[in-house]
Amino acid sequence: MIKSINPATEQIVETYDALNAAGIESALTLAKATSKYWTKTELSTRVSLVHALADTLEKTANTSALLMTKEMGKTIAAGKAEIDKCIKYCRYTADMAHDYLADEVVETQYKQSFTRPQPLGTILLVMPWNFPFWQVIRVAVAAILAGNTCLLKHASNVPGCALEIEKIFIKSGFPKGVFQTLLIASSAVKSILEDGRVHGASVTGSEHAGSSVASICGTQIKPCVLELGGSDPFIVMPSANLAGAISHAITGRMRNNGQSCIAAKRLIVHADIYDDFKAGFIATMNEIKIGDPLDEKTGMGPISSKKAQMEITEMLHLVERQGAEITTGTQKIPKIGYYLRPSILENVRPNMDIYDQEIFGPAAMLFKVNSINEAISLANDIPLGLSSVLFSNDEAEQKLAINELQSGSTYINRYASSDIRMPFGGTKRSGFGREIAKQGLREFTNLKTVIIAN
Ligand code: NAP
Repeated sequence: MIKSINPATEQIVETYDALNAAGIESALTLAKATSKYWTKTELSTRVSLVHALADTLEKTANTSALLMTKEMGKTIAAGKAEIDKCIKYCRYTADMAHDYLADEVVETQYKQSFTRPQPLGTILLVMPWNFPFWQVIRVAVAAILAGNTCLLKHASNVPGCALEIEKIFIKSGFPKGVFQTLLIASSAVKSILEDGRVHGASVTGSEHAGSSVASICGTQIKPCVLELGGSDPFIVMPSANLAGAISHAITGRMRNNGQSCIAAKRLIVHADIYDDFKAGFIATMNEIKIGDPLDEKTGMGPISSKKAQMEITEMLHLVERQGAEITTGTQKIPKIGYYLRPSILENVRPNMDIYDQEIFGPAAMLFKVNSINEAISLANDIPLGLSSVLFSNDEAEQKLAINELQSGSTYINRYASSDIRMPFGGTKRSGFGREIAKQGLREFTNLKTVIIAN
C-alpha cells in the first residue's frame, strides 16, 4: 500500500496498491516491445511528441500544481512555476534535439568517420519528491528524445504526481510503453535493474539511494547517472552588492520550503560584512510568510513529511548540544501540519556531525572568513560538490572561484538554479553524469564510432 499524506493538513490524500510481480512483469514486457520500434522512430516524430507534451503540461498545469501542493507541500505558486519550467524545457530541448543528437564528423584519412549517439533501450528513473514534475521531466524527456523508453519509480510520498505524469505522456500521444509509472517500493528496484530488459538507471535522491542503485548497476554493467545531495557554499565578499546577496541567499536557501538539492546551505561571509549580512538575512527570513501552501501569498509551506520534519528537528537539537548557536525565525506557524520555522546556525565546527552533512530543510549554516582563499577552502572542505555561489564584483575573486570551487556548477552573483539550456550535475559525493542540454541527451546513448574506409 502506498499512501500520500498532505503535509499541511496531515490528512491522507489517497492510497494506492503497489504494483505486484505480475504488474511489474507486464510493464517490462511492454517496455521491451515498445523499445523495439521506439528506438527506430524518426527523431522528428519524437520531437513533435515532446512539443505535444509541452502543450498538455500547459493545459493541465493547475491540476499538476495542486497535486504537488497536496502531496508534498510545495506552495501553489512554486508548483505553477515548476510546471512552467517543464514546459519551457520540453520546447527548448525538442527544438535543440537535432543539434544535440547529430552525428559528429571527425577528420581522418578515411572516406567518412563520425560518431553517432544511439539509444540504449529502457531506462529506470528513480526520482525524489522535492520537484516531483521537474526532476522526472528533465530526465525522461532527454532519454525519450534520444530514443529510449522510461520506467519511473517515483518517491513513495508522491504517487499521485507519478501517475499524473504518465497520464500526461499518454494524453500527448506517446505510445503507452514509452513512459510508464511503476508504483513500487524501493526494495523492488534491485530485481528490475537486474532484468535484461532494463539498460540503465538515473537516480536523483540521497547518497544512500544513489550508492545502492549504482552498486547494482556496477554488478550488472549498466550505466547510471547520479544526482545526489549537496551542502552548497554561498560565498559573500565585501565587493558584493549586499542587498542583492541577502535576497539571493534567502531565495537560494528557503525556496521550495528549504528543500532543494542546490540550496545555499552554507553561507560563507567575509568578516567585514558578516554582521550586516547576518542582520539582513535574519530580517528577510522573518518576513517570509509561512502557512497554507494553497494560498498564493504564502512564501513557505510545510516540510514534506512528518519523518522529514522530525529528522531535521533532531539534527538541529543535536548540533545545538554540540555547541552551535541557532537563531530561529519569529513567524508563527500553523498548529496542524509539518511546519518548521527557518533558522540560521552559527559556530558550526568541523568536529560536529552537521559540518559536512546536508540539512534538507530551511536552516542555513553561517560561517565567517577573512579572505577568498579561506572561503574557498572552507567551501571545498566537505565531500559534497553539487553547486557553488560567489557574490563578488572582484574579477580576480570570480576567476579564483570558477577555477577552485569543487562543484558541478558555479554561479557568480546569483543563486544556484538549474537552467534549461545548460548541463546540470555534481561532483565528489554529489554524484556523476549530467542532465539537461546536449550532455543530458547523450547520457543514455551508445556513442558509436563509425569509420567507412572507402
Ligand atoms: P531518497 O530518500 O534517496 O529518495 C529518492 C528516491 O530514491 C525515491 O524514489 C526513493 O524511494 C528511492 N530510494 C530510496 N532508497 C532507495 C534504495 N536503497 N534503492 C532504490 N531506491 C531508493 O531522497 P529524497 O528524500 O526523496 O530526496 C532528497 C534527496 O535528494 C536530498 O539529498 C537532495 O539533495 C537530493 N536531490 C538531488 C537532486 C540533484 O539534482 N542532485 C535533486 C533533488 C534532490 P522511496 O520514496 O520509496 O523510498
